[in-house]
Amino acid sequence: MEAPIRLGISSCLLGNEVRYDGGHKLDRFLRDTLGKYVEYVPVCPEVEYGLGIPREALRLVGDVDAPRLMTQRSGVDHTDGMLQWARKRVEELEKEDLCGFIFKSRSPSSGMERVKVYSDQGMPSHKGVGLFARVFMEHFPLLPVEEEGRLHDPPLRENFIERIFAMKRWRELLSQGESIGRLVEYHTRHKLLMLAHSPAHYRAMGKLVARARELPPGELYRQYQTLLLEGLRLKASVPKNTNVLQHMMGYFKKQLSQDEKEEILEILALYRKGHMPLIVPITLMNHYVRKYDEAYLKLQHYLHPHPIELQLRNHV
Ligand code: SF4
Repeated sequence: MEAPIRLGISSCLLGNEVRYDGGHKLDRFLRDTLGKYVEYVPVCPEVEYGLGIPREALRLVGDVDAPRLMTQRSGVDHTDGMLQWARKRVEELEKEDLCGFIFKSRSPSSGMERVKVYSDQGMPSHKGVGLFARVFMEHFPLLPVEEEGRLHDPPLRENFIERIFAMKRWRELLSQGESIGRLVEYHTRHKLLMLAHSPAHYRAMGKLVARARELPPGELYRQYQTLLLEGLRLKASVPKNTNVLQHMMGYFKKQLSQDEKEEILEILALYRKGHMPLIVPITLMNHYVRKYDEAYLKLQHYLHPHPIELQLRNHV
């Protein structure tokens, strides 16, 4: 990948002192570790909309599906102004080629889910979405999004980072113009990754690519992108990964010795039972791909979906 992955992020997560109390919510993993591989596009809805630092804290009030954004003490209603600003901001963000967005959890402006919405009696329900986050997700419905809190969960973290890398490769493909040949190549390289996330999407994408010449290129790309991003949203799991790894074994049927086959099956059984992380069978597969120079498997992003230094598969 030549250009860095561009990722939107709630500004306070990078350590910027933009919160209502003049503080920040620095997330060191996002800034220091993931930050080596991405170029962040920070957004602070409340400051960019025009509220100062420090400022009175805000909260969501009323209908969970269409809450009002109010100052907590003085009850000033910022809903209409914030929505107007957010709609304009997401249009500007279209030019940023974002591969995803990381939101600050629980914020009435930036929270992606389970944000408190207060009833008229002052009782909170945890079913709201921050105003800016809602407008963003409606505008970019398939773009990978997560919250910093959820990214502390290893499977969610691995899934999100896998998605942003696949999205970046997709954006690079788009930047080269529409071509059936290049789409087929992208598809070939992502087959096993898709199979690990969603066998149904994997099959649908295969059918779509098989009749690529029957569709206008724009329509083909549009349908492919929808399947790709919908499929990647479904999480890879131990049974799905086991299925992919068994499928991979089929490519070595003739080359593997009996002892090598038994070794792979033993490692797969240990992985399936939760005694080993995914990185162990993946490393073994990479070893045999190299040893037997297996041309198709060598191409698979499934074996190298993101930088090994992130160690994401050591914990899933
Ligand atoms: S949560 Fe959102 S609105 Fe609040 S300080 Fe962070 S970026 Fe700004």
